[in-house]
Amino acid sequence: MRIDLHTHSSVSDGTDTPAGLVAQAVTAGLDVVALTDHDTFDGLPEALAAGGRLGVEVLRGIEISAQRRGASVHLLGYGCRVDDRALSAELARVREGRSGRVGAMLARLSALGMPIPADVLYRQVGDSPSVGRPHFADAMIELGYVADRTEAFDTWLADDKPVFVPRYAVPVAQGVALVRASGGVAVLAHPWGRGRREHLSPDVLADLARGGLDGIEVDHQDHDQAARDELRVLAGELGLLATGSSDYHGTGKVDHDLGCNTTAPDVLDAIRARVAGRGGLL
Ligand code: AMP
Ligand code: ZN
Ligand code: FE
Ligand code: FE
Repeated sequence: MRIDLHTHSSVSDGTDTPAGLVAQAVTAGLDVVALTDHDTFDGLPEALAAGGRLGVEVLRGIEISAQRRGASVHLLGYGCRVDDRALSAELARVREGRSGRVGAMLARLSALGMPIPADVLYRQVGDSPSVGRPHFADAMIELGYVADRTEAFDTWLADDKPVFVPRYAVPVAQGVALVRASGGVAVLAHPWGRGRREHLSPDVLADLARGGLDGIEVDHQDHDQAARDELRVLAGELGLLATGSSDYHGTGKVDHDLGCNTTAPDVLDAIRARVAGRGGLL
């Protein structure tokens, strides 16, 4: 049983359509895949239909842009009722923040000698309701300003680089509460990836666990072996579920192939039981 609980489609910043992603999951030999686009459920109907056709179980997921004391934190939700009003309102607020900073980022790029015509950017965004920095990166690649997304982030787009403009993100404790109130299971994505470790110390993770966090993503490409080992021990001590996943983005992220990390079947069983107990829909 091969289970991958964190993937992105072109409905956020991945490069495969939802149906295309599910077809790739078949090729990768996965039995279960969760679609977890950034701040939107819009890809789920297409992915679920493709899963039915192709014989892969597709789970309803999301990756919520959250923050703790201003530092970016990503929160995965599994089995949330997608029509929950409080959750939907908060996701809309995040997406508005994403759209609302586009003009300021384009202005910064122009000032730095890298103008991006709006049509070039919006062709990269496609019909995603969740515009993100990877779309800017892809426009910069198209215009020859950078070679790939990694160079775009490392030089211009990362949180400490000149094109970064902050946007609204959900306070993480509120995110956990919203996920659970909508019937879902809340799992912190890559808690110690990309400089997050200093913001998510064991004490902070313990605090979040007391606040209802269900699990942490342990096996992730942004965690080295030592971090995985420590996080697995912490999860055990704190009574948190330990998941593993690829964080697949199609061709948008190298070294994140579908199924490169997986979640144990008994952990998925626990997620299913919690979603059922909370009235969610996985
Ligand atoms: P945003 O959603 O606009 O905050 O952009 C952050 C997203 O960009 C993350 O969720 C990742 O999917 C992606 N990302 C962050 N750093 C990199 C990187 N170095 N290379 C490629 N993608 C990245
Ligand atoms: Zn992403
Ligand atoms: Fe993430
Ligand atoms: Fe992700």
